[in-house]
Amino acid sequence: MTEKTIFKKIIDRQIPAEIIFEDQHCLAFHDVSPQAPVHVLVIPKKEIRSLAELQGSDSELAGRLLITISKVAEQLGLNDYRVISNCGESAGQSVFHLHFHILGGRDLSWPPG
Ligand code: 5GP
Repeated sequence: MTEKTIFKKIIDRQIPAEIIFEDQHCLAFHDVSPQAPVHVLVIPKKEIRSLAELQGSDSELAGRLLITISKVAEQLGLNDYRVISNCGESAGQSVFHLHFHILGGRDLSWPPG
């Protein structure tokens, strides 16, 4: 059996996280190493390695994730923010459980590195 990812351990409450939203399908919690004044991660509870692994059968879940991102950003009082999903190691992905970063609370430059 493969080792659980950190995010699966957070879902299963095996390690703590500052959770700010949860429903049957999605979880949102503060990033442990924030890169902006607000840095939150939104993840599906379903184990999907990355955006590249999303299937057509996940379309409802994909929609739920986007709505959750929007609601969580509103909950955090963000008007302007950036949403990022690093897909693959060379794009910066370090945890292989699909997640979306919400970054806000400061000016964000473009393009990212
Ligand atoms: P990635 O590099 O895969 O796009 O993003 C993974 C993110 O997960 C990083 O921003 C990293 O700081 C965050 N992270 C890694 N381990 C933990 C943890 O144990 N708890 C929390 N809350 N965030 C984590």
